[in-house]
Amino acid sequence: MSQPLIAISVNQILRNGIDTNSISYSYTEAVVRAGGLPLLIPNDFPVNEIQTLCDRIDGVLLSGGGDIDVNLFDGEHHAKIGDPSRDRDRLEIALFQQALGEHLPIFGICRGAQLINVAMGGTLYTHIPTQFETTIEHNTPERKGRDHIAHQVEIEEGSLIGQIIGRTKIPVNSFHHQAIKILAPGLKVTARATDGLIEAVEIPGTLFKALGVQWHPEGIQGISEQRDLFSAFVTACHK
Ligand code: MN
Repeated sequence: MSQPLIAISVNQILRNGIDTNSISYSYTEAVVRAGGLPLLIPNDFPVNEIQTLCDRIDGVLLSGGGDIDVNLFDGEHHAKIGDPSRDRDRLEIALFQQALGEHLPIFGICRGAQLINVAMGGTLYTHIPTQFETTIEHNTPERKGRDHIAHQVEIEEGSLIGQIIGRTKIPVNSFHHQAIKILAPGLKVTARATDGLIEAVEIPGTLFKALGVQWHPEGIQGISEQRDLFSAFVTACHK
């Protein structure tokens, strides 16, 4: 059986005034380690050719990154919201919807989990510190490293992610100042931080029909449960 081809979305950043595609190696390394073949999809990929893309890939990984445009979910404006990446928002929503329709496995990480919720009609806290009461630091300073354990998450027993992880409480890293606020219809919350913030969502029924996690498993691949997430995703893409 050939290795599944996994489309990975990327950041849209301005470099010297020029729109640029960018993503860290950690995503592609985690996919390769799990037995998949990573394929980076540029933000200027022609949206009307998404079906052509989905005909050739076996799964979609929606990666982490900047904030989703607040206008896409009628979100509360806040000074700390990053500039929108409109090409990325448009591409990822189109890719998500096409992949969902074609029953391709979908794995959302951080922004990717938020993207799944917004694409399905949910909303986000646009700045956690002013909109959600917590003592947890969900937005770890980068100097502490991508593998810094920020908090625990409690995983719903019997959920699809629960079957992969095999434990009800795990430590995770955390690099987000936004999070899911109102859950989209059709999604189920399957993990929360100990402060109650949503940390994982899934479409019930089929593994990776869509599954999103708010933490960054690609940054803590030294932990077996986090490798298991990628292995289960690549296995789902084989089918
Ligand atoms: Mn968190």
